[in-house]
Amino acid sequence: MKKALVIGGGFAGCAAAHQLMLMGGWDVTLVERAPFLGAGVRTRYYGGHPYTFGPRHFLTPWPHVFEFLNTYVPMRRCADHQFLTYVERDQRFYTYPIHADDIPEMPEAAKIEGELSAINIEALSKLSSAEIAGMSRKEARGVNLASQARNFEDFWIYSIGETLYDKFVDRYSRKMWQIDDNKQIDDFTWSPKGVTVKEGPRAAWDTAISAYPIAFNGYDDYFSIATEGVNVHLSTTIENYDIPNKTVWIDGEKHTFDLIANSISPDILFEKCHGELPYVGRDLHTIVLPVEFALPPEVYFIYFAGDEKFTRITEYKKFTLHKAPTTLITLEVPTMTSKYYPLPFESEKAKAKKYFDEMPDDVHNIGRAGTYLYNVDIDDTIRHALEMAEKIKS
Ligand SMILES: Cc1cc2nc3c(=O)[nH]c(=O)nc-3n(C[C@H](O)[C@H](O)[C@H](O)COP(=O)(O)OP(=O)(O)OC[C@H]3O[C@@H](n4cnc5c(N)ncnc54)[C@H](O)[C@@H]3O)c2cc1C
Repeated sequence: MKKALVIGGGFAGCAAAHQLMLMGGWDVTLVERAPFLGAGVRTRYYGGHPYTFGPRHFLTPWPHVFEFLNTYVPMRRCADHQFLTYVERDQRFYTYPIHADDIPEMPEAAKIEGELSAINIEALSKLSSAEIAGMSRKEARGVNLASQARNFEDFWIYSIGETLYDKFVDRYSRKMWQIDDNKQIDDFTWSPKGVTVKEGPRAAWDTAISAYPIAFNGYDDYFSIATEGVNVHLSTTIENYDIPNKTVWIDGEKHTFDLIANSISPDILFEKCHGELPYVGRDLHTIVLPVEFALPPEVYFIYFAGDEKFTRITEYKKFTLHKAPTTLITLEVPTMTSKYYPLPFESEKAKAKKYFDEMPDDVHNIGRAGTYLYNVDIDDTIRHALEMAEKIKS
């Protein structure tokens, strides 16, 4: 039997251990620092309500990833739900992402329309008449200056103009990343939900599968199924790493492996020799309210775009369908005291690459911290494990 080590027992680590067990021929050891598997996706309980650390609803554009999870944890498709943003200075809620149909309702509607058409005219003026002739009217209307952006602030101002940027993006992003200036963000390939101004349905996920486990304990059974037959070490950290030789020390004993699947921050594997990789964290506050539902039926989350200390509230019953006369919401407050979101800075990605470059072929980096990529969600962790299995087989 070949020996494999999985570092970290969140969704990515469990999914990787699962793939190795499904393949057969692997003796798998998983090391997890916490006393439980699943990390923030594991179901917790407050006032009798099941919830997770943040929404953790399952969204994917990949049907095969959905089908894979659905085989082990039967999933319920969520109705098309909406996100809202609260803009305190307007004293109102708007659809999130910014929706084209909301713009005429905004106090600065005429100014915003003017800014959007100025961006459009300037961008069109930079194209050749042949390029413009090949476009539909809708495509031509959507042309903006975003391709010239050097940072996140440019990207948004060139896409939506100063007023919408100020109203929806500026404070939210600085709060989300705990920074003073959005020009600091130079990796802006991500954008919330992939669009700047949305047209068409108001539902946030009209192009993806949106689902949540049917079971009262959410995804928890998956973590047990995925690690059946795996040597799981909970409440354990590796004392020493020699990654080039795929060797680690656990409980004072030296172990060498044929393969490592790593889902934790790569700097830890090399004693931060190229410097520490930064992250932003979250504090999560649970609040039970004396009403059956707090948010409108179609609304699962609300984002707060202003100077509020928190970024988002979530109503869990919308996913879990838990029946109770009260409802649970959580409030997410960004903090630097925990580590959940890799920072979208090119300099930090370059630092992470130095660590990846030192890893031999049989070390696979998976999951959010393992790849040091912000935009890794639950479906991506499963996809990473499936791709790792394909690589091993080939
Ligand atoms: C607040 C929040 C809300 C989210 N909501 C959604 C959502 O609605 N939908 C969605 O698809 N995605 C969501 N995500 C993202 C998604 O849940 C995560 O990206 C995914 O679960 C990450 O899994 P992972 O295994 O890569 O990392 P993690 O879940 O972080 O797991 C890593 C594991 O490694 C362990 N570990 C860390 N250091 C060590 C060490 N030194 N030794 C041993 N073990 C260690 C940790 O204890 C943890 O269990 C959310 C993320 C956050 C933070």
